[in-house]
Amino acid sequence: MLPIKAMQKLSLIDYPGKLCTTIFLGGCNFRCPYCFNIDLVLKPETLKTIPEDVVLGFLAERVGFIDGICMGGGEPTLHRELPRFLSKVKSLGLLVKVDTNGSNPDMLRRLIDEGLVDYIAMDVKAPLEKYGEAVRVEVDVERIRESIELIRNSGVEYEFRTTVVPALHGEEDILKIAKMLKGSKRYYLQQFRPDRTLDPSFRSVKPYPMETLEGFRRKIAPFFDKCGLRH
Ligand code: SF4
Repeated sequence: MLPIKAMQKLSLIDYPGKLCTTIFLGGCNFRCPYCFNIDLVLKPETLKTIPEDVVLGFLAERVGFIDGICMGGGEPTLHRELPRFLSKVKSLGLLVKVDTNGSNPDMLRRLIDEGLVDYIAMDVKAPLEKYGEAVRVEVDVERIRESIELIRNSGVEYEFRTTVVPALHGEEDILKIAKMLKGSKRYYLQQFRPDRTLDPSFRSVKPYPMETLEGFRRKIAPFFDKCGLRH
């Protein structure tokens, strides 16, 4: 059973330009110190699972009011049941956005090949040589690279994004990430929020002022069709 742990019935911001319901799956293979979905990542088994048929019933009633769903987490691509669930969502006529950390290109390929995803948002956590430090687990960065290439060439709408954390990213790191992603359609720099963090020591990390992020954005903007800031 898909571990659906939470649902936001209506979101105006999780799917660009669309109204969506956001679904949160439990479990993640990364341990980003700045992550704010702490229980979903560290102890999903302590959270109640919402039965799939309840969620699908709710979505069926919302057809016409919402455009689609955003599937987030945790890391949704870890779950083998994901394609089966998304095919049911698609059969309702809803759009599907998937948020991912890019660690499972095989699942992403399957979702793309089977027409089960309409928008992919991939977090790019750091320059590849600093990935382990940024996500606090060992990472096969070739799989990250593979996901990036797969998404860019998929024909599916997409964005890449980086949460910019002063303790992890300097301007040099943002430039390296941007060079790696050069030529992509959309790239967003996201402001770090220290109020709730998986590593408690990150709660005292002061976010960059928005003007600093805007300075980063201006430097890298020529690499992308669209490059924005998110609060
Ligand atoms: S930020 Fe995303 S990838 Fe990182 S631990 Fe949290 S859910 Fe996982």
